[in-house]
Amino acid sequence: MSWDSLSEAQIRDRVFAALRTNLSYRDDAVLGLPGSFLDREVFPALPELEKFPLLATVRANPNHIGCHTLGVSEPAFAGTQDLEREVVAICAELMGAPPDTVDGYVSSGGTESNLQALWMLRNLLRAEHGLAPGRVGIVCSEDTHYSVHKAADLMDMPLFLVPVDEQTRRMSSSAAVAAVERARTRVDGLVAVLNMGTTMFGSIDHADDLLAPLERAGMPYRAHVDAAFGGFIYPLVCTRPGLDLRDERIDTITLDAHKMLQAPYGTGIHLARKGMLRHVLTPTAAYVPGLDCTLSGSRSGANAVAVWMILKSYGEQGGRAFCRALVQRAERLCERLSALGVRHYRHPDMNVVCLRAEDVPGELAARHHMVPDTHVDAPSWLKVVVMDHVTDQRLDAFCNELAER
Ligand SMILES: *Cc1c(COP(=O)(O)O)cnc(C)c1O
Repeated sequence: MSWDSLSEAQIRDRVFAALRTNLSYRDDAVLGLPGSFLDREVFPALPELEKFPLLATVRANPNHIGCHTLGVSEPAFAGTQDLEREVVAICAELMGAPPDTVDGYVSSGGTESNLQALWMLRNLLRAEHGLAPGRVGIVCSEDTHYSVHKAADLMDMPLFLVPVDEQTRRMSSSAAVAAVERARTRVDGLVAVLNMGTTMFGSIDHADDLLAPLERAGMPYRAHVDAAFGGFIYPLVCTRPGLDLRDERIDTITLDAHKMLQAPYGTGIHLARKGMLRHVLTPTAAYVPGLDCTLSGSRSGANAVAVWMILKSYGEQGGRAFCRALVQRAERLCERLSALGVRHYRHPDMNVVCLRAEDVPGELAARHHMVPDTHVDAPSWLKVVVMDHVTDQRLDAFCNELAER
């Protein structure tokens, strides 16, 4: 098991050892790289920086350009790249993959990870089936994140949305069949996007709802799992997680460390089965050792270190306990809501509670900073995401006000 926890001192030692392995803009003759440590005038050295491994990494400013699970990459930052490789290995293990079967990198977030996955799977389908540009589409539920709509627009991939049941948020198989039938008239291949936690509801898609109709239609397809929302909670709470790399139909996964994992913004994870990244290799990235298979280009090594520190501080057991506590708190909220007759949706293994907007006075929702399903029209749903700062006390205060409505 690669995901054991380390003590604070062990974590500090590992990060500083990684920084010593990196080239240092201060101590080494680095003439050719277009980067440096953070500006010395604006960010003077902090006293006792040796106590703060993340700040020390931010200051040292390693560039993690490229992908570091493929063998060859920029040697200047090999030390912190090692920590990024461990992040990818832990995430792959969490997603059910055998060791050394997954490539990946720390992207800028779920949006980039989704774009990267869809870009790669589009190119793969084109290459393997000789499909023409514009003839690979995307099929997914209507609750799918808007970044997939961005991908469709950017990459000229027609988008086919499958409606979901209003109460269960599940795609019906007849709706999926209809979407595949519509798609067949416009495209010759499809990337299916499955959600492991939709942003608004925390609902979890069933792979077969979408993949079985694709198989029956004989349509060339690939499958991506968007676990930006649920990837760092659902598999840690649920004892029988589906939608991961144990299912050989699934090719790529997006996770967001800057949501449930509480890492700094700018930390998404892209995972892909080994052998696939060559479909997004940019051969003209000739100044990057190992070339570049990522969407980002230059990116902060400190982001990868932050994710590594969190994963290694908790370890698997600590991570599970943390997530269970959040889900139990969400469960208690739902019990109170039911007692108050407030209609709501929650997946039993998730920390998102979506309340019927008609059951919640608007000013109360605003005061508690609930998030509506739409800022454009009158909302149908209002959500609560039970995070670390969403304490029982805050939830009680909310419920007490709701009781007086
Ligand atoms: C948040 C989210 C994204 C996009 O993530 P960013 O990190 O904001 O780019 C994609 N998919 C889902 C399901 C999300 O919840």
